[in-house]
Amino acid sequence: MANYNQILKNANDFDATLVAVSKTKPNSAVIDLYDQGQRHFGENKVQELCAKYEELPKDIKWHFIGHLQRNKVKYIAPFVFLIHGVDSFRLLKEIDKQALKSNRTIDVLLQVHIAKEDTKFGFNESELFEMLSSDEFKQFKNINVIGLMGMATNTDDEAQIANEFTSLKQLKIKLKEEYFQQKEDFRVLSMGMSGDYNIALNCGSNMLRIGSLLFGARNYDK
Ligand SMILES: *Cc1c(COP(=O)(O)O)cnc(C)c1O
Repeated sequence: MANYNQILKNANDFDATLVAVSKTKPNSAVIDLYDQGQRHFGENKVQELCAKYEELPKDIKWHFIGHLQRNKVKYIAPFVFLIHGVDSFRLLKEIDKQALKSNRTIDVLLQVHIAKEDTKFGFNESELFEMLSSDEFKQFKNINVIGLMGMATNTDDEAQIANEFTSLKQLKIKLKEEYFQQKEDFRVLSMGMSGDYNIALNCGSNMLRIGSLLFGARNYDK
């Protein structure tokens, strides 16, 4: 866990929240960081998230960071702290419905496709503008859109990564002006993972999702 203090310091220097991505790691690994004061943890599988939620301390703030299937929203709706990867109107609609059933308002981030690869999920800019302008979107009552999430291309080209992160930051500013001007809490920019988090911080990230650098490489991954 030697990296934890250094990464935390880097995050704090930029007023960024560090989400420790504990996917595939045992509860003991979560507890190691929990004991050092870490409270934000991220998972990308619903089943694993629910199991960890049941077994671990209840003051942990659980982030869902992966691709979320609509039929699984109901399992995490009662407790999830923030859903990062919202990439369709239909998913938002389901989150709104399940949040109402749980008597909650759920914070979400809209995932934007910023990478050159087409394997990464997310809205493109025009889809986002179209959705945010729609009457259906305005009718949601139990979701709270607090920002954007994006993943850069998996490349060694740091200039390209910086360009992609910067485009997300600019999009956030634009959306804030056009749709969320009165909304103080539309402020989160979730970008940066183990390999690119320093670039992300320098491009305006205020929420990091870091796994392998904290917990070591994963044995299996998707
Ligand atoms: C696994 C994962 C991370 C963390 O990746 P690392 O490279 O291990 O830091 C961040 N974001 C998402 C969406 C992930 O699935």
